[in-house]
Amino acid sequence: MLEIKDLAKTYPNGTEALKGVSFSVKPGEVLGILGPNGAGKTTLLKLLLGVLTPTQGAISLDGVSPQKSPFTFRKSIGVVHQFGSFDMSLSLWDNLCIYGAFHGISKRERETRVNYLLDEFDLTSKKKEPVNSLSGGQRRKAQIARALLHRPSFLFLDEPTTGLDVHSRKQAWEVIRKEIGPSAYVIFASHNVDEVEKQCDRVLIINQGELVALDSPQSLIDSVLGHRIEIALCDPPGEELVHLLLTEEWVYDVESENSRLRLRVNQPSQCLPRILECCINNGASVESVITKSPSLEDVFLKATGRELG
Ligand code: ADP
Repeated sequence: MLEIKDLAKTYPNGTEALKGVSFSVKPGEVLGILGPNGAGKTTLLKLLLGVLTPTQGAISLDGVSPQKSPFTFRKSIGVVHQFGSFDMSLSLWDNLCIYGAFHGISKRERETRVNYLLDEFDLTSKKKEPVNSLSGGQRRKAQIARALLHRPSFLFLDEPTTGLDVHSRKQAWEVIRKEIGPSAYVIFASHNVDEVEKQCDRVLIINQGELVALDSPQSLIDSVLGHRIEIALCDPPGEELVHLLLTEEWVYDVESENSRLRLRVNQPSQCLPRILECCINNGASVESVITKSPSLEDVFLKATGRELG
């Protein structure tokens, strides 16, 4: 189990970046981390990777602490950073083999493993090429291959699929899922809410250094009441219309911004005709209407009071 207990970090300038966060990650689980800028995500991730020392609290990866046993801990982690570092003049093969050697993998095993992963990522034809001749997407896939090479028990992915096309993104997650199997722990940080929703078993949201939500994407979405209806009007709505809409059954929130109305409603198909009638009777001309089911983005908005991205 990857266990985080009451983890806090106060920087020397007095900023309380993390204020006592506790959670655990189960074997084989992919945990997504979301939070607005300044929420404490990077601080949490640096603490998890053992780069920073906590002011308070403890981290344990199957009983190993990054603070107490940094060498053992680092051997068991695989990291994909946003900006991967390769020796650009060396071939892809050499880069991966050197990494494998650093992790103490025997020559025979690392060559087998590198060949296997390059094949999984469709990079076999590039193995003798210097990394600087690879495209951004190929380098990104090579980065993921490298992070998986030593079969880490804790995989940390920071925006791992940025720059990958749809096919490569799908391929990357298939390989990751296959490689982590039932025993490794994965932490996935991203601003791509669709990808987080799709790939994560659970999602953790932090805001102002505190954990504000932790559950499966679907349970989090289910916790958000209502659907959204966005109505574009030809002119800004009057206050009277906003008040009138709020009195309608199934409507429990109305916001107006310029000539847009944003409503939160239950039963959108039932109340939409009444809402449109209300607008028209009030002299408003409707330009377009969009209805949206709740998403992880709504969860984020509810938990942090801020829009994602
Ligand atoms: P996020 O990654 O969610 O944007 P960070 O963990 O980078 O958030 O930052 C959380 C808070 O800690 C912010 O207020 C930030 O300004 C502050 N902070 C981050 N790093 C340092 C540092 N080295 N020294 C002082 N304050 C810091």
